[in-house]
Amino acid sequence: MDQNVQLRNLPKVDELLKRGDVAAWMDRAPREIVVEAVRCALDEVRERLLSGNDADAGADAIVASAFSILETSERRSLRRVINATGILLHTNLGRARLAERAARGAAEMAGNYSTLEFDMNTGERGSRHDHVSDLIARVTGAQAAMVVNNNAAATLLCLAAIGAGREIVVSRGELVEIGGSFRIPEIMELGGTVLREVGTTNQTHLYDYERAIGEQTAALLKVHTSNYRIVGFVREVGIKELAPLARSNNLPLIHDLGSGLLIDLAEHGLSEPTVGRSLADGADLVLFSGDKLLGGPQAGILVGKKKWIEQMKQHPLARVVRVDKMTLAALEETFRLYLDPQEALRSIPVLAMIAASMEDLKRRAESVIAGLGSCEGARFTVEESIGRIGGGCAPMMDVPGISVAVEPLAMNALELETRLREQELPVIARISEGRVLLDMRTVSDEEARGVVEVLLALLR
Ligand SMILES: *Cc1c(COP(=O)(O)O)cnc(C)c1O
Repeated sequence: MDQNVQLRNLPKVDELLKRGDVAAWMDRAPREIVVEAVRCALDEVRERLLSGNDADAGADAIVASAFSILETSERRSLRRVINATGILLHTNLGRARLAERAARGAAEMAGNYSTLEFDMNTGERGSRHDHVSDLIARVTGAQAAMVVNNNAAATLLCLAAIGAGREIVVSRGELVEIGGSFRIPEIMELGGTVLREVGTTNQTHLYDYERAIGEQTAALLKVHTSNYRIVGFVREVGIKELAPLARSNNLPLIHDLGSGLLIDLAEHGLSEPTVGRSLADGADLVLFSGDKLLGGPQAGILVGKKKWIEQMKQHPLARVVRVDKMTLAALEETFRLYLDPQEALRSIPVLAMIAASMEDLKRRAESVIAGLGSCEGARFTVEESIGRIGGGCAPMMDVPGISVAVEPLAMNALELETRLREQELPVIARISEGRVLLDMRTVSDEEARGVVEVLLALLR
């Protein structure tokens, strides 16, 4: 049909709104939003016709397109996804998933009043720090603890409270950038501290620290090189060697540990230092994240000598970086699980995923294959693959995985990967050699069933 005729015959917004199917949308969305979707769909067709392209200008087609616009506009921006990448603490996908108990705790505090800053014994004002401090101290073996928004905030607070106007000594091999422009030298500047670099990129000796200590020194800082390794002709000074030096000079020894591993997972191939080891070796303050290997909510946790923790609680920045009630609830539940390390390994997702055996993963992959039955839209194989810890932890570690590899027949791997991402419950996967790889280590049993449903729908 002539495009001008089509343009002239385009239905009016009001006509479309009177249709029964469109009117029914008003039950699920405000009128304005429905009108906007209809208008948008009409505009799209009009544009296509005006630019000389073909378009279905019938009312049914426009209504269908308006409905899909409406559905998209109703979708939350922050949505749940299935992580089939094999990267356990995928920063872009929200790092650690919470244990069920922790998630429930956060949800309960979110929708109710709570004892956040209320002392139940006296009926007077309490401190939000009290809810978790003793528990964290007990689990880590520290004297005292404090929780802030994230570990970047913990580092800033610590440097500002302890080193403002004075010098903090750090090895040149540990001037870390974490990503998201968190850089140790810049954080120091922001905290009002003078960075006193010692040693070289690859070699730092105890005497380098000794020579740097003077009138102006406020602390010694050791930063765990979470997201990189220097290999070859390398020498660093450990906490155990630094502790006596710090003590004899009456200086605090601060350890920015990054990942917050509480249980030694060496038997699962993970050689990251634990919080307990750092404290036992003599660190006065240890700083770590809540949502890395600890497996809890986003938070920054400071543990160590009471004297320093109290000093940080009093600092004005503490108010700026304070943690909210949902986080505190989730963190309390997470630390409770650590009272029994075996329970922690079972129910904290990141730990359970690290500890999952290849046999467990094979079983999960085979259940996916079985669920796909006689689906003929692709070739499916189960194969070994390599995952990562992610979240800037254990950068050199290959996490062995088992993947379901999908080689679609009627589309290419890139198309399938894209369509998996476009689902109501998106599945995030990787592509390798023309196939889509679904790593079973980061997919739960329940999610594996979801993956099957989506694949069946896409490959039919
Ligand atoms: C990850 C990390 C941080 C930042 O922690 P966030 O909780 O992400 O703010 C700081 N220092 C080190 C050594 C880290 O690994």
